[in-house]
Amino acid sequence: MTNSKLRYCMAAWCLLSPGASRAADLQLFEAVQPHMGTLVRIQLYAPDPGRADDAFRAAFERIAQLDAIMSDYRADSEVNRVCLAAVRKPVIVSADLFTVLAASRALAEETDGAFDVTLGPVTLLWRQARREHRLPEPGALREALQHSGYRKLHLDPAARTVTLDQAGMRLDLGGIGKGYAADAALAVMAELGIRRALVAASGDLAIGDPPPGRSGWSVGIDAPNAGAEGFTRVLEVRNAAVSTSGDSTQSLEAGGVRYSHIIDPASGMGLTQPIAVSVVARRGIDADSWSTALSVLGPERGLALIEKHAELAALFTIGRDASFHTVQSLGWPGYTYPPNPKLSRDFQHPY
Ligand code: AMP
Ligand code: MG
Repeated sequence: MTNSKLRYCMAAWCLLSPGASRAADLQLFEAVQPHMGTLVRIQLYAPDPGRADDAFRAAFERIAQLDAIMSDYRADSEVNRVCLAAVRKPVIVSADLFTVLAASRALAEETDGAFDVTLGPVTLLWRQARREHRLPEPGALREALQHSGYRKLHLDPAARTVTLDQAGMRLDLGGIGKGYAADAALAVMAELGIRRALVAASGDLAIGDPPPGRSGWSVGIDAPNAGAEGFTRVLEVRNAAVSTSGDSTQSLEAGGVRYSHIIDPASGMGLTQPIAVSVVARRGIDADSWSTALSVLGPERGLALIEKHAELAALFTIGRDASFHTVQSLGWPGYTYPPNPKLSRDFQHPY
């Protein structure tokens, strides 16, 4: 990863507010498991290891359940089965899948298709291309684009059904599913009474109540040239979500050009402009999908849209290595704190 990095960190110290003595009895626990093709890290405060274990188990089980629904890497996932069964025929789907598809469809409309989960045939070609270190065949890409397009995905909320216009369509929830799963994991832990928690599904963070005596969890976002002296930006976040999309290890280099795993639906090509976008939202499902969408839209078109949403804030980092600049939405400075070298870096984001 050479572009923006997102890390979250816990301050090594706690400022205890008056009356926080019970909260101060809580201990910090952490667990990491592989899910959804990445590592999911959960930090939580609990009164004892037994309560922490119960919360971890429930959270990871919920994430595994959602992976079985949303993964397009698994032939037997609900989303893959729906792609075969729902061709010109409405199919009833789970409430989880419907929620994610409805949010995806709404964002596709708002972004004029910049965010589009029906790009599955195209993203499949790019995955093969990355494995084989060559660009996808133009003819195959044209064909894949003909089997994409969010207007070919129809949802009926009353019946909770999905209908697809064509055979050969594939749905890729890679730009929204991790944020939704992080939300869901946080929700099952809250049902067990564990609310001071942070779920990080790779670059998609869902954050609950703050650590005892503090106003929020610290989320560090590094600039491309950040040194060891501290985060470039530190957000203090509670009951919110933060996602970063950007250049990742998943990019493909061909002919001296670097192609992102994020696809511009207008061309079917991986993005070539170096950009990373961090989004703060109320929920992970929104932070995740908007950060992907804004990467495609770029700062000019992206800001025009994001400023319509008071609950969203975004930071664009454009450029690689030492030469980069940032553009932020009006709401962003409210979340930004000066760099604080005292903050420990106990999590290295994999971007
Ligand atoms: P993220 O890392 O959240 O930005 O998501 C990137 C993933 O979203 C990719 O690996 C694809 O699976 C999927 N994707 C790529 N381009 C798009 C797009 N334009 N709209 C929606 N999903 C996309
Ligand atoms: Mg995303």
